Amino acid sequence: MTDLHRLSIREMAEGLKSAQFSSRELTQHYLDRIAKLDDRVNSYVTVTPEYALAQADAADNLLKNGTAGTLAGVPLAHKDIFCTQGIKTSAGSKMLDNFISPYDATVVAKAKAAGLVTLGKVNMDEFAMGSTSESSFYGATKNPWNLEHVPGGSSGGSAAVVAADLAPFATGTDTGGSIRQPASFCGLTGLKPTYGRVSRFGMIAFASSLDQGGPMARSAEDCAFLMNTIAGHDAKDSTSINKEVDDYVANLNATAVKGLRIGIPKQYFNVQGLDAEVKARVEESLKTLENMGAILVEIDLNMTEAYVPTYYLIAPAEASSNLSRYDGVRYGYRCENPKDILDLHKRSRSEAFGAEVQRRILIGTYALSAGYYDAYYVKAQKVRRLIQQDFLTAFENVDVIAAPSAPTTAYKIGANLSPTEMYLGDIYTLAVNLAGLPAINAPVGFDKDSLPVGLQLIGNYWSESQLLSIVHQYQQNTDWHTKRATIAEENA
Ligand code: GLN
Repeated sequence: MTDLHRLSIREMAEGLKSAQFSSRELTQHYLDRIAKLDDRVNSYVTVTPEYALAQADAADNLLKNGTAGTLAGVPLAHKDIFCTQGIKTSAGSKMLDNFISPYDATVVAKAKAAGLVTLGKVNMDEFAMGSTSESSFYGATKNPWNLEHVPGGSSGGSAAVVAADLAPFATGTDTGGSIRQPASFCGLTGLKPTYGRVSRFGMIAFASSLDQGGPMARSAEDCAFLMNTIAGHDAKDSTSINKEVDDYVANLNATAVKGLRIGIPKQYFNVQGLDAEVKARVEESLKTLENMGAILVEIDLNMTEAYVPTYYLIAPAEASSNLSRYDGVRYGYRCENPKDILDLHKRSRSEAFGAEVQRRILIGTYALSAGYYDAYYVKAQKVRRLIQQDFLTAFENVDVIAAPSAPTTAYKIGANLSPTEMYLGDIYTLAVNLAGLPAINAPVGFDKDSLPVGLQLIGNYWSESQLLSIVHQYQQNTDWHTKRATIAEENA
């Protein structure tokens, strides 16, 4: 049974149901791979073997009784931003290195209730701020396709564990691209759902009006299985929507690609810094979709230049407010021997927050300060509305919109981009969060250095089923999503 990690989620679930292998065997198989290979990838912050095996045994009992749900006994990894009762939740920060949550995030609770087995918690940029996973207190995660490159971020650990076959799928969060960009850099499928589709309860807040959790996996089908588990209304999250949830798995073939109108924004393909090979692979994938019957329609998204400045005003503003709770008193790190209460706040925060987090708190606090609030924050909110309107106008004419997920493939670790250079790399993902729309990344080939390239499809509100269905059918016609990094080929 050396190749259990090659199975799709559907095959795993079927293998468990028909007792070809037990959840304990499957879980142990992944734990062995993690023990052997994770040192090279640095994807797990915390591995939870005893916890995982206990969950596996419980799932095996349900499987024996015939009372197991669809995914009972299948392992997964959670981004270390989802609170897990009794297990450390660090958000990649020294601030929360000692934090053990007293409760589970709704996403975690739903996965548990479905009988999924938690292998552990995976690495990320500190408080999800970044695009490389290098800002983590636990060190950089490596890209399984080339260990000298970053896996992307902030859900870099989630992408790396799946790409290295150290978990069959994983949860991620996306505030400005953090599911789609690492999925793109690691050759995976990742879905950022409509804002409000997946509960944010217990998901450590970065920018609350933008944050959204979602699945990262090899294929659209695997993502659909996880979406069926985690999507839905949650009374504990006031921004969660009380709207019927699709059966994402049942709908995998429901959208007709024939006649589907795919918008190609002119502005997106002329962005300075768009790598020629990324552009070529994305265009080839669109050609494939066209051959499958889709109609490519050139469209305008006139607000493109406003994406980066608008996001990098609103996200830090919300972050500065959300992160004020880390005061050295209520949660996490506390400095030694504070002189007085101010010294306690000041030193706890400056000793435990990394440079990028401090930069964002400063920018956000400045933008929200009395004298600048209208000039910056209020103005950014108005531009945000125009960005949303731009998409709504486009959706009057097309079903989905195509774009690269990122202008380049994975950067080298330590490339030391300036903050502005790094922020510009988010050009294709930010507007989706500002507008609250769903979007998916699908792997569509490689550059000359064998690093993966991703296609992004952006849908109208609540079109998760449609996005998964389009990518599923693309994946029935292509094999990019089945390619494996060398490290994933190694057996434990
Ligand atoms: N790269 C973006 C940022 O640094 C997005 C991060 C995210 O989606 N969490 O803010």
